[in-house]
Amino acid sequence: MFVKQNIIEFKKTLPKEITLVAVSKTKPISDIQEAYDTGHRIFGENKVQEMVQKYKVLPKDIEWHMIGHLQRNKVKYMAEFVNLIHGVDSLKTLKEINKQAKHHDRIINCLLQVRIAQEETKFGLTHNEIEEILNSEEFKNFENIRITGLMGMASFTSDKEQVTHEFQSLKDFFNKLNNNKFFNFQLSTLSMGMSGDYQIAIANGSNMIRVGSKIFGERNYIS
Ligand SMILES: *Cc1c(COP(=O)(O)O)cnc(C)c1O
Repeated sequence: MFVKQNIIEFKKTLPKEITLVAVSKTKPISDIQEAYDTGHRIFGENKVQEMVQKYKVLPKDIEWHMIGHLQRNKVKYMAEFVNLIHGVDSLKTLKEINKQAKHHDRIINCLLQVRIAQEETKFGLTHNEIEEILNSEEFKNFENIRITGLMGMASFTSDKEQVTHEFQSLKDFFNKLNNNKFFNFQLSTLSMGMSGDYQIAIANGSNMIRVGSKIFGERNYIS
């Protein structure tokens, strides 16, 4: 009952235009089912194997989002069903996603991850690297992927100004790409904000938040 009440109450506080990815990593099937039973359909995982196991036993109308750092050799396991891959951070990974999507005769939606945090440990591309990818001939020939937006993770800090600044920089870059007549596509999704900073993210232009512990409770980490 805990998850059910949490997700219902949490969604009531969100503006309607915000898409909630309920991050269920490390949490049992029963928790996801509880959230599902309230009508929620979008769930995020950060490990491919775990997502595949959950996909197999849960209802097939769930939209599965891969939010974690991606290892290229794992793409094939989720290519059949994954709905959105948030953390794409190289042309090589895009190439592999395109190949596996083609194999399953699908188009896979991807977000490019932008490095906005100061922390060395956080993944992501620089603005230049993203423009390089989007301009590359190789990218233009990928027929089985669609870049639908950008994703970013702010620094893990209590300094709200810094977090605000990082989210703003991502929103500015998102607008810049959308105003660039050079690219013949529009980005619609800006994935930023987690349990600790989603309010700041929304205030700064996020339209997709990835929230785990606020819905499912704290995680007991081994990984
Ligand atoms: C775990 C995770 C989240 C959710 O974190 P919470 O703090 O539990 O909301 C969001 N995004 C990514 C990339 C994650 O790995």
